[in-house]
Amino acid sequence: MKRTGIALLLAWVLLLSACGEKPAEPFRSEFLAMDTVMYLTLYGEAGERASALVQERVEALEGLLSVTDEGSDLYAANHSGGQPVTLHGETAALLERALALCDETGGALDVSIYPVVRAWGFTTGKYRVPGEAELEALLEKVDYSRVALDGGALTLPEGMELDLGAVAKGWTGDALMELLAEAGVSSAIVELGGNVQALGARPDGTPWRVAVQAPDGSGYAGVLEIVDRAVITSGGYQRCFEQDGETYWHIIDPATGRPARSGLTSVTIVAEEGVVGDALSTALFVLGREGAEQLWRERGGFECILMEEDGTVAVTQGLEDSFSLYGDWVDHPLEIIRK
Ligand code: ADP
Ligand code: MG
Repeated sequence: MKRTGIALLLAWVLLLSACGEKPAEPFRSEFLAMDTVMYLTLYGEAGERASALVQERVEALEGLLSVTDEGSDLYAANHSGGQPVTLHGETAALLERALALCDETGGALDVSIYPVVRAWGFTTGKYRVPGEAELEALLEKVDYSRVALDGGALTLPEGMELDLGAVAKGWTGDALMELLAEAGVSSAIVELGGNVQALGARPDGTPWRVAVQAPDGSGYAGVLEIVDRAVITSGGYQRCFEQDGETYWHIIDPATGRPARSGLTSVTIVAEEGVVGDALSTALFVLGREGAEQLWRERGGFECILMEEDGTVAVTQGLEDSFSLYGDWVDHPLEIIRK
């Protein structure tokens, strides 16, 4: 069994300055959080002070939302044995939002998938391929519509366990945008695993340039220009293992309990809110191209970049002018998805 681990995210954001101009110096920092490295690039005098606040905020959120931390709200919920538990306000607010997104995606996102994710070893790194009977039994516990949330009071059916891993980093990005703006930072970019979120534009008023990773490990596939947006990618390459020549990854199709094989290798969502981008990047990866297009047409409120197994890149029309293929990928077929 080979571990491919978590892809390293280096230099996601291309901080290219307009020619000849000397850019303002940002305050940069990085720290470990939520199983990944967080990179901050903050412009303005408040940068350094804000960076300490960011770290505190992220650690507080992780303390509420971690599935493994014994003091977290999620841990309490997952060990409640069918009894009601009281959640902190922020956990309840995120869960409420996440449940709505599970509904909007027809269950492609399902926050009660945790027993299945654990069986595959994605929470512990002890990877294995569960048998059919085991998966069937675990799937009986998976159904977000049976989560009873009333204000801060949560009751889960016995045996059900929640995993907010598909939405927690996006929610965190939104919280940080708010915190940074309040702290007096006018321009910032925050990277958390496959999530990038921008506050405002670059200090010179031009858009941020965010690189989108190539799912085949060949560097960057494209570059996006954004202002005040979250850019969130889910890919099969981010956390996976190989066994007997098959690759298994951490995004599970709730219909089968197995890694989602929809023909997509990566989905990038561009949205105003990180939590929406995060939820939809996971859900669209499960849905595949057709389902993704349908959700974009019917729900709207986001744009996306879909990368397919055959190397095709499809981009919704709202990104037509802000996305371009990059490097080795410039010759790949690029399709525009229109309304
Ligand atoms: P990452 O956390 O690597 O950025 P995602 O946002 O796509 O990737 O979230 C994947 C995580 O969400 C998995 O590690 C797992 O904990 C959980 N998960 C996997 N499949 C689903 C699903 N269909 N619905 C909800 N959560 C999922
Ligand atoms: Mg996600």
